[in-house]
Amino acid sequence: MNVRRALDAICPDRVVTPAHPAYDAVRLLFNGMYDRRPRLICLPRDDREARDVVRVARESGLPTAVRGGGHNVAGAGSLDDGLVIDLRLLNHVVVDPRAGLARVGGGATWSDFDLAAGTHGLACTGGTFDTTGVGGLTLGGGIGHLMGRCGLACDNVVSYRMVTADGEQLVTDRESDPELDWALRGAGHNFGLVTDFDFRLHPIGTVYGGYVAYPGAAMSVAVRLFRDLMLAAPDELTCTLLLERYGPTQTPAAVMSVCYSGKDAGYRATLDKTLRSVGVLDWQVTDRSYVSMQVCLGRLPFGLRHHWSARCADDLPDELADRLVERFHAGRITDPFNDTILIEPIHGAVRRAAPESSAVPFREARFNVTGMAIWSTADADAEQAAWAKSVAEVVEPHGRWGDGYINYVAEARAGAAGRAARTFGAGYDRLLAVKRRLDPDNFFRSNYNLDPATGNLAAGNLTGKS
Ligand SMILES: Cc1cc2nc3c(=O)[nH]c(=O)nc-3n(C[C@H](O)[C@H](O)[C@H](O)COP(=O)(O)OP(=O)(O)OC[C@H]3O[C@@H](n4cnc5c(N)ncnc54)[C@H](O)[C@@H]3O)c2cc1C
Repeated sequence: MNVRRALDAICPDRVVTPAHPAYDAVRLLFNGMYDRRPRLICLPRDDREARDVVRVARESGLPTAVRGGGHNVAGAGSLDDGLVIDLRLLNHVVVDPRAGLARVGGGATWSDFDLAAGTHGLACTGGTFDTTGVGGLTLGGGIGHLMGRCGLACDNVVSYRMVTADGEQLVTDRESDPELDWALRGAGHNFGLVTDFDFRLHPIGTVYGGYVAYPGAAMSVAVRLFRDLMLAAPDELTCTLLLERYGPTQTPAAVMSVCYSGKDAGYRATLDKTLRSVGVLDWQVTDRSYVSMQVCLGRLPFGLRHHWSARCADDLPDELADRLVERFHAGRITDPFNDTILIEPIHGAVRRAAPESSAVPFREARFNVTGMAIWSTADADAEQAAWAKSVAEVVEPHGRWGDGYINYVAEARAGAAGRAARTFGAGYDRLLAVKRRLDPDNFFRSNYNLDPATGNLAAGNLTGKS
């Protein structure tokens, strides 16, 4: 078959090849480590076009990737010499404020989502960098500033409209297909192309939030402060901690994001007192809209080089806190970006959700710790990957969740059988069963992959190919 002609018939003027003047701009991924050169990029703009493109892709046999927001750290939203189904035109967000629901296109970004919902004083847990895609982030779990109160992003999905590997359209929810619904929450990139998510929204217009920066000399104390605060936090408070170089002078600092969506004035006063119990370098915590909260940590441009390495931990004991500070100082400075360590809590509604409600493996953990190496030139690739991995190695003995949060995995071979089995533990064989039913030929494989050809690999029996 002539694939180009078939795609042109479905998406006129929206098929991009290497000869197209916009090719380099369209193929660009967030992570500059992955300079993918697809043979064809096709941009459907509704669910029927997406369905027809999947059918052509299947028939052609071309390796295919689905691109949502293009932020995947392992470059999974694209591939060399194959077809990319780029969903960026499927970015609608339709809010029903009375029902408290939003229908969100599979290629929308969190900026699209937050602005549309925020207009009605509504919100839902989403990525803390608003350029990230709703699709990839939600299908892998979805950590954000509201997670203590509202759970992970995936906990708020009510139903999905998707195109399956055999080119059929499907609307699915917990009642119609409980196994697929379970699998879509945490390993969801594997089962189909989601054209629409229906999200439950929460009445959150303003928050007391922003960030507070502590000086480098107080970094170890700040890690302990953050840990103790989050271990005792009410659901309405979610903080994260970044060990980074801060401001124009690139001074080492511990920067804590703070998002309090409660209305208890007494707790708020206690929170202020706690946050100020360590000398402050910069205070940017104030009453603000949730939309403003979502952008207060700034933005990163597309095209920088990233290697992230994350692990979930049971706790953050003092010796681990000190090792993380030591690892931070071993990181590299590439002005104006630098190696950063991110510590996120797993708390509140995330931990309370029944384990059987989703395939998310790490709900019992307390913290997610990520070494985020960020730089701009290829000569430092090996050194930077080694630094990020060294952060994960320090955390590894404190956890038992394999790769932990799959959305932070930076390696192209993410999801190799042994690793996926360790990460999903008891849920792995169950996920494979859903994959074999929905996608037995592994059409959707540019992701943290569940390979249906792999023998059953219950955790502890890691003998399959990888
Ligand atoms: C700057 C930055 C900030 C981040 N912040 C957060 C954060 O606050 N919280 C958090 O949890 N994670 C965060 N992440 C991680 C993020 O969850 C992952 O990078 C995620 O893969 C991004 O999704 P995407 O749609 O942008 O990526 P893409 O690269 O487009 O896609 C990622 C994967 O999802 C699949 N996919 C995407 N959309 C669909 C769809 N509609 N249907 C089926 N499959 C789809 C793709 O095929 C691919 O396998 C961040 C990442 C970056 C780079």
